[in-house]
Amino acid sequence: MSLIHHPAWIEINLRQFQKNLRIIRGMIGKSLFCLPVKANAYGHGLIEISRCAQEQGVDYLAVAHLQEGVELRKAGIKIPILVLGAIHEDQVLPLIDYELEFSISSKFKADLVAHKLLLDQRKCRVHLEVDTGMNRTGVRPKTAIDLFTYLKQLACFNIVGIYSHLANTEFPEHTQQQIAVFKTLLKHPIFKGQKLISHLANSSGVLSYPESQLDMVRPSLLAFGYGNHPDISPCFSLKAKISYFKTVEADQGISYGHTFKTSSQTRIVTIPVGYGDGYRRELSNKGSVLIRGKRYPIVGTICMDQFMVDIGNDEAYVGEEVVLIGKQGEEEISVQETAGLCNTIPYEILCLFNHRIPRYYIF
Ligand SMILES: *Cc1c(COP(=O)(O)O)cnc(C)c1O
Repeated sequence: MSLIHHPAWIEINLRQFQKNLRIIRGMIGKSLFCLPVKANAYGHGLIEISRCAQEQGVDYLAVAHLQEGVELRKAGIKIPILVLGAIHEDQVLPLIDYELEFSISSKFKADLVAHKLLLDQRKCRVHLEVDTGMNRTGVRPKTAIDLFTYLKQLACFNIVGIYSHLANTEFPEHTQQQIAVFKTLLKHPIFKGQKLISHLANSSGVLSYPESQLDMVRPSLLAFGYGNHPDISPCFSLKAKISYFKTVEADQGISYGHTFKTSSQTRIVTIPVGYGDGYRRELSNKGSVLIRGKRYPIVGTICMDQFMVDIGNDEAYVGEEVVLIGKQGEEEISVQETAGLCNTIPYEILCLFNHRIPRYYIF
């Protein structure tokens, strides 16, 4: 990737990422640190981020799908990997082949797995997923005891963990309720002496609900630098080089549909990034970019591969660096700001950036 001279790129600051990991480590005491790296590590690059995490002593990785886990194993990642999403029958053997742990969240799925492994002497490593209020996947706490008992008597299951997921961390009451339900379940005598890794906390759990930190925690957004903590900062920037410059007369429409009209003669520069890269079209006539440390507005509709910026009477040359997300001089365009303009959350903005934009890892 790094040899291709593409005029737009994502810069990942691994030094900052490592710092974030160290700070989280300091916050979680003796808990194991599981880093979810699903969706290309929230757009940061699955393999590079996972390698860095492994080197930094992160204990576990989590992905959503089998395929992400296989990619990690093929890249030589050795630490335990948990596949969070519900699995399908035809995935059972590859999950074991690649030494991936996975979630069991129903008797139905447990039977499918057991059936697949009837003629296979191998064991699979699984985490029992409990639904404490998300209503997505997972068995209800009441059923969890029965399912655990059931799994225990099937030879193919090595139950290594039990977990749940927080649904509503903006609301302390609901979150505390989920924590309480999960902790009550864990106190059930059936789990005594079972050496299960219990885990519940995501980023918000780690930041705001220390009581949700059990044997392991799963913060991801926080590790990438988003969260209310003085020493944690983003490690992601999106940059490009100006690809074109022109002076446009007054009363001219810009880009598809002429959604922007110049009010006076002005200078327009073109940036070679578009929604085909995952840069949201929603930012048309709303977003801004940084050039020479100053903010300028995006004008007209964002195209698939490029968009335009109005620099007024200022100067900027073709080839100059533009920051779409990140810092330049004293100015900053944050992922939170971009997400706000698009009426979405930072997670979505980050993971929409696709493979057309190369990622560079700086230190
Ligand atoms: C994605 C995910 C996480 C990480 O969430 P953050 O809010 O980024 O910390 C944790 N647990 C599960 C089950 C997830 O799917």
